[in-house]
Amino acid sequence: MIPPVRLSSDFDFFFEPKHQRLVETLTDVASELAACQNQDSKTIMKRLGQEFKLCSWLIPDEGASLDMRALCLIREMLGQTMPLADALFAVQGLGSYPIVIAGTDRQKKHYLPYLKSGDWIIAFAVTEECAGSDIASLETTATPTSNGYRLSGSKTLISSGGVADYYIVAARIDTKAFDNVSPHQRIGLFIVPSHEEGLDVSPMSLSIDHPIASLSLNDCMAETLIGNEGDGFGLLMKTLELFRLTVGASACGMAYRALQEAITHVQNRNQFGKPLMAQPIVQQYIAQMSTELDAARLLVLRAAYQQDNQHQDAAMASCMAKSYSTEAAGHIVDKAVQLLGGKGVVRGEIVESLYRTVRAMRIYEGTTEIQQMIIGKTVLSKDKQ
Ligand SMILES: Cc1cc2nc3c(=O)[nH]c(=O)nc-3n(C[C@H](O)[C@H](O)[C@H](O)COP(=O)(O)OP(=O)(O)OC[C@H]3O[C@@H](n4cnc5c(N)ncnc54)[C@H](O)[C@@H]3O)c2cc1C
Repeated sequence: MIPPVRLSSDFDFFFEPKHQRLVETLTDVASELAACQNQDSKTIMKRLGQEFKLCSWLIPDEGASLDMRALCLIREMLGQTMPLADALFAVQGLGSYPIVIAGTDRQKKHYLPYLKSGDWIIAFAVTEECAGSDIASLETTATPTSNGYRLSGSKTLISSGGVADYYIVAARIDTKAFDNVSPHQRIGLFIVPSHEEGLDVSPMSLSIDHPIASLSLNDCMAETLIGNEGDGFGLLMKTLELFRLTVGASACGMAYRALQEAITHVQNRNQFGKPLMAQPIVQQYIAQMSTELDAARLLVLRAAYQQDNQHQDAAMASCMAKSYSTEAAGHIVDKAVQLLGGKGVVRGEIVESLYRTVRAMRIYEGTTEIQQMIIGKTVLSKDKQ
C-alpha cells in the first residue's frame, strides 16, 4: 500500500497558483501509477506523455523556459510513487533539452511532438569507459563526410539504453580544423536512431530497476547535429545544470517514502512490551530523518526558484541541492532500513529497494565530489572579488 503522496508544495512561499494546480493533478497521477507498478518502459512513457501529460513540462512551448519548480514537484511525486517512471521521465528531459534550446525549427518539429507524447523515448549518451566525470576527455569521434557525420566509439551506463528510439550522442569532432582547439570546444551533440546501422546496444544489469545499456558505434551515421560543431560541451553543461537539481527533488520523494515506511513500522511493531516509537532513540532517528528531509527540500526549492528567476547563483544552488539531497536521502533511507530491522533488507520491501535506488543518485549527473568541487571553487572565487 503506497502512502498518500506529499509534495514540497507545503513550502508555499516558493510557488505560484499554477504550481498548486499541478499538485492537485499529481495527487491523482500518483494513485493511477501506484495501481500499475509492473508495466514496461514503453507503456510507462506513453502514459507519462499522453495520459498524464507530464512530458509537456519537459518540452516547453517555443520561446518559453522550463518550469523547474514544476519539474521538481513532478519528480518528487514520481520518486515517491514509482522510481522507474521517474528515471524514464528524467532521461526524456535530458535527451530533449538540447533540441529544445539549440535545435533548428526542422529538428524541433520532427522530434519534439513525439518526445512530448511519449511515443518516442530518447537517451542521453555521454559517459565512456575513459570519460566519466571528465566529460571533455571523451574519445568517440564524429568525422564529417559528404552525407553527414560518421560516429565511432563506445558509451557506457546509458540510461534508457535498449528502450530508447533515439540517442543523443556526444562525440569529438575529428577534422584538421579542430586539431588545435581545446577538448571542450571540440564536442558536438548528434542524434542517432536506435535502428541505425553500426549502432549496437548491449543491456547492462544494475543493482536497481533501471533500463541501461552500453553502446558501440562502428562507423554509424548520425541523423543530425544539434547546434554547431563545437557547441556540445556548453549544451551538456546547461542541460546538466538544470536537470541535476531535479535529481535532488526525486531523492526527496524517495526519502519521504522511506520515512513513511519507517514511521508506520515503529508505530506498529512492539518490542519489550511497547511500540518501538516509545523508545527515545527511535524518536531521535525519526527527528533526524525529518529534519534532514526538510533541509533537502528547501535547498531543492531554492535552486528551482533561482533557476526559474535566472538568479546569478542558480548554478551553485543546483549543485548544493543535488549533492545535499542525494546524500541526505542516503542517510534517511539507511535509517529507515535500520528501523525496520531484518525486514529492512528483505528483497521486495520498499525500503530495501529504495536503499539501492538512492545510492546511485550520488553518482549520476555529477557525483557529490564534482558538485562540491564546483561549489568550493564558486564560493572561493566570489570571496576574492
Ligand atoms: C544509474 C546510473 C545511470 C546513469 N545514466 C547515464 C546516462 O544516461 N548517460 C550518461 O552519459 N551517463 C550515465 N551514467 C554515468 C554517470 O554519469 C557517471 O557514472 C558519472 O559521471 C561518474 O563517472 P564515472 O562513473 O566514470 O566515475 P569517475 O569519474 O571515474 O569517478 C570515480 C570517483 O572519483 C571521483 N572523482 C572524479 N574526479 C574527481 C575530482 N576531480 N575530484 C575529486 N573526486 C573526483 C568521483 O566523484 C567518484 O567518486 C549513469 C550512471 C549511473 C550509476
